[in-house]
Amino acid sequence: MAKRDANALNTHTHYSVASAHSLAESPRAMPPTTAELFDRLLTDGDDTTAGNYFVANYPPFSFWDKDKVAEVRAVIASPAPQGTPLGVYFHIPFCRKRCHFCYFRVYTDKNADDIKGYLDHGMRELEMYAHTPRIAGRKPKFVYFGGGTPSYLSVAQLTSLTDRMKALLSWDEVEEVAFEAEPGTLTEAKLTALRQIGVTRLSLGVENFDKHILEINGRAHREDEIYRAYNFARSVGFPQINIDLIAGMVEETDENWQRNIAKLIELQPDSVTIYQMEVPFNTGIFKQMQAEGKLVAPVACWHTKRRWVNEAFTALEQNGYTVTSATTAVRDPQKTKFVYRDELWKGADLLGLGVASFSHLGGVHFQNLPDFESYSAAVEKGELPIGRAMRTTTEEQLIRELILQLKLGRVSRSYFTEKFSVDVSQRFDAQFAELKRRGLLTESGDWLVLDRSALLKIDVILHAFFLPQHQNARYT
Ligand code: SF4
Repeated sequence: MAKRDANALNTHTHYSVASAHSLAESPRAMPPTTAELFDRLLTDGDDTTAGNYFVANYPPFSFWDKDKVAEVRAVIASPAPQGTPLGVYFHIPFCRKRCHFCYFRVYTDKNADDIKGYLDHGMRELEMYAHTPRIAGRKPKFVYFGGGTPSYLSVAQLTSLTDRMKALLSWDEVEEVAFEAEPGTLTEAKLTALRQIGVTRLSLGVENFDKHILEINGRAHREDEIYRAYNFARSVGFPQINIDLIAGMVEETDENWQRNIAKLIELQPDSVTIYQMEVPFNTGIFKQMQAEGKLVAPVACWHTKRRWVNEAFTALEQNGYTVTSATTAVRDPQKTKFVYRDELWKGADLLGLGVASFSHLGGVHFQNLPDFESYSAAVEKGELPIGRAMRTTTEEQLIRELILQLKLGRVSRSYFTEKFSVDVSQRFDAQFAELKRRGLLTESGDWLVLDRSALLKIDVILHAFFLPQHQNARYT
């Protein structure tokens, strides 16, 4: 799937800490002024070149360190403050085939025994946490199944997995169970089982409605499978169906994009998520670029991708939708919430299970070991399978929440005053003044509101809010 918004946090598998700090700490004569920083960020090249663009977390992943894993043991040894929401994420790293733009930790060659073993390990991992002071007795508010392709699992595997999860941590108070699905893996029986298990938000990784574009980008599903899965899902009665699209897949054209928009309007999903195509270093597209000696990816430039997202948002708004983040539009904002995203972006605890999963507990970030073998071996030994971690300062927690909430297009100043005793409009006076000067931000009562054009390039703008030591550093 392409689910950077959701488990944006749990999808990155590029796993290198080398050189991050050397970049960040390279001596420079004079730090740039805020105006110069914005000039640089906003005028950077328009071509899509290789690298990560999407900001999913803060501080950058490259600052997390294997030597800080002891911080996780410390945080799980004490109870969570009363009222801290808890979410559980389970990473299912299996797919039918690898999409050419995919940079997630996925496997296409595992057999039924491997999958069974993996699910067993995930449950042993959950068991280890379920008895710690931090987690014991807590009831998750949200559960998320991401991947990979969670819908790759069979009905029997899904039922057994979720029964075991519920036995370890009760789902009695769960408000949302989100589940990512690849249309070609869904049958009516599987969708019925998912609804019975308790899934409330089904996210369909459609990415594009065109047969040729799907094929040339290495997607496993076909166009007719999208409509079949969508209609089954509607008949089963999921409270929320989301459709994911990517603007700028290889060979995307204006004509095709307009057809995608028309299909969205025709199907009327509760929620639409649109990502702008990026080409990280571990994708098939990048390998092809290397083989051909090319620096520019064979996809649309950033200006075109932003225009396409804007065209989709505008058409959706004309058809009654509301844009609720840089990537999302929903049909009914009162009814269609995304608990996972909203709680996470307000600092909730998230326990990530499975290979390469990301967690955030009590201000400590950590990521599981990034490959199947090392993850499984650690769990077999009865050890927490953690690869790298970072304890954040209160200031870093504030910046993390601020930049993530800016992706919603507006932030409440009183939220930060109440939680951190900081007026963000003063703390980041230079950044907000610069955005206002450029016509990209307005104030409306308690709210700082981003203009649509700023929202569409928010992942670029957010770097201006990073602490100096995190700027110009490698992100993943
Ligand atoms: S291979 Fe494709 S379906 Fe699987 S996780 Fe990657 S993008 Fe999603």
